[in-house]
Amino acid sequence: MTRILIAEDEDRISSFVAKGLESAGYQTLVIDDGAEALDRALSGDVDLLLLDVGLPSLDGFEVLRSLRGQGSTLPVIMLTARTSTRDTVDGLDAGANDYVAKPFKFDELLARVRSRLREPVTTSSMSIAHGDVTLDVLARRATVGSREVDLSAREFALAEEFVRHAGQVLSREQLLSRVWGMDFDPSSNVVDVYVRYLRAKLGPAHIVTVRGAGYRWE
Ligand code: CA
Repeated sequence: MTRILIAEDEDRISSFVAKGLESAGYQTLVIDDGAEALDRALSGDVDLLLLDVGLPSLDGFEVLRSLRGQGSTLPVIMLTARTSTRDTVDGLDAGANDYVAKPFKFDELLARVRSRLREPVTTSSMSIAHGDVTLDVLARRATVGSREVDLSAREFALAEEFVRHAGQVLSREQLLSRVWGMDFDPSSNVVDVYVRYLRAKLGPAHIVTVRGAGYRWE
């Protein structure tokens, strides 16, 4: 029987997830502490790990780095509390196979769990595409048409934010908080500077300036 380890310290969430997974036919095990979850994941008797970012003793990133550092290929889906692109990119960098941002619908989580259990870890990749731009989030590789483009980590995170919200106007404040974090000076023009970098690298037509409102990916 397929066994899923749920590393989550919020009872409300872990019991909701465990109940749902059990009625979908999986066995579950809930652990509310990072170090204990790591031990359990390394023991080899679980098939998939749902890993919360904010955990006591070791946080989700530390658990994941340690797990991968010790050679484990256990499929890991991160539960990110924030919809921050930085969390996502950090998580995928640390070796997560996928992530689900809280709050999530159970069906969405179940779909990810099923697809991660089907795919061998070594061949997994995660790409998002819009028009001729493709971002491989796992390998952090950007291509325009068939041309590979070299993006810095921040440029990649910004491009990802745009592509994930294609067609929507994103304000400077939204982009600052999602890509740079809340500690950044809100009066900074760093967003405009990076939009210029992305236009130069990905082509001028993708990111449209919406006067007085922000930017939109088309
Ligand atoms: Ca938590």
